[in-house]
Amino acid sequence: MTLLTPSAERIAASDAALKSLPGHVNHEPGADEFAVLDPATEERIATLPNRDAAYAVEQLGIADEAGRAWARTTPRHRSEVLHLVYDTLIAERDRLAFVISREMGKTLAEANGEVQYAADYVRWYADELLRPAGNYRENPAGGSTILTKRSPIGLAVLIAPWNFPMAMITRKIAPALAAGCGAVIKPASLTPLTTMLTVKLMERAGVPGELMRVVTTKDSGAFSEAVLADPRVRKLSFTGSTGVGSTLLGLAAKNVVKSSMELGGNAPFIVFDDADLERAVENAVQAKLRNGGQSCIAANRYYVQEGIADAFVEGFTERMAAVTLGHGIAEGAGLGPVINRAAVENFTRLVDQAVELGAELRTGGSAPEGAGYFFEATVLDRVPAVADIARTEIFGPIAAISRFRTQEEVLAAANDTPFGLASYVCTENLDRALNVADALEAGLVGINNGVPSNPAAPFGGLKQSGLGREGSGEGLEEYQEIRFYNISRRETA
Ligand code: NAD
Repeated sequence: MTLLTPSAERIAASDAALKSLPGHVNHEPGADEFAVLDPATEERIATLPNRDAAYAVEQLGIADEAGRAWARTTPRHRSEVLHLVYDTLIAERDRLAFVISREMGKTLAEANGEVQYAADYVRWYADELLRPAGNYRENPAGGSTILTKRSPIGLAVLIAPWNFPMAMITRKIAPALAAGCGAVIKPASLTPLTTMLTVKLMERAGVPGELMRVVTTKDSGAFSEAVLADPRVRKLSFTGSTGVGSTLLGLAAKNVVKSSMELGGNAPFIVFDDADLERAVENAVQAKLRNGGQSCIAANRYYVQEGIADAFVEGFTERMAAVTLGHGIAEGAGLGPVINRAAVENFTRLVDQAVELGAELRTGGSAPEGAGYFFEATVLDRVPAVADIARTEIFGPIAAISRFRTQEEVLAAANDTPFGLASYVCTENLDRALNVADALEAGLVGINNGVPSNPAAPFGGLKQSGLGREGSGEGLEEYQEIRFYNISRRETA
């Protein structure tokens, strides 16, 4: 198995992008520092301060004060700043993409896609905030008129995962800025560099430096306990695993902090006999390999109806087997490394156990030896329902396929999970598409669509996949309070 390596030009360009980072240093980490690694080589690419709880609380004060001033700016002003942010992020696309790829591992092409996707949230909110919502109602009993209005909720704490280090941050910062809030931001310690660069570019575009304060730390427990005990915090937005989300909800309960939670998934991908085969295979590849499968909406369990199963498995396997592994910034790499060694070990265990239980390995299944955290694009067919891989969030480039006979049977299997984020259905029958989408317990359904996320859509999960929504008008409401004025009216003569 060969691993593609990058050209000297690409290495030099990405090194230059890393060196341009604010406060970037790279040396053996001291006691109050931590290192950031390139998952393709395991080389250290930065050393950053490991901020303590006192520092985080200090940042709350700075962001809170700046947020109060920002809340008094006009929607027009905030919109213009956000449009400038969009232009700046797009102008710096190459630099951002190199940093994303080097610290997180995804291919440069995907990192470019993430920059656009992340910036699109900024542009979407820049437009949305120009139409401040509010409404007018009559008291049904007469005698008064009710006006409702929305105001910024106040200081926000934003905690993001490593898998989309730019998009998961802008999906929170853009609506916070649009609503008129300041924020303290904690990126994942595996991928803090993208956040630092994104926020720096926002400042260059006109966002006040005191408004968005980034805290780099490995001590995430100490961070969340300190900031969520602080009465100035009025909003928590978290994206990450369900276990951590549940802990944070417990901490947020103390001061009754409004919380949005974008948590884990276990998405079913259902292919019916009446699907367009070519389109289903294309969607299946996209839903699995976007971000190397390290996406909360990645297809996790493939259910294929018996009449189309052999042809689907053949077409899908052919596509997955053709994917080339390589360093994310290598020319021609189709799949980069995954995030760390523990992920590779988990994939090996999941695949081995499924095969022991009777699953058929169609392609992939191994991790190349040597430095870097790589795992091949893998297809397993006829995976038994009891295998761990059929029950847990894989978060990697492995597709686990099982076959079904009836719609009723597949719906029962698809919904047999505590998660409810994404799901996918491939069929050319409109009635079936809508009936199945209605019956799936999921916050979003890709219908003949392997990439359903969009800034205009209210992204979020049902069941243990989350609370609240990101993106769209609903995402803005997460950073607002709804209030009303009840105005008494007496008869006048
Ligand atoms: P994670 O829960 O381990 O970490 C997420 C973030 O929380 C990181 O910044 C981490 O440092 C921080 N964190 C961990 N413990 C904390 C604590 N006690 N207090 C405060 N912060 C803490 O998740 P991850 O491994 O980074 O990301 C993968 C998970 O995220 C998957 O389950 C995936 O499905 C989920 N995810 C969900 C969405 C979504 O929109 N629903 C999007 C991306 C990822």
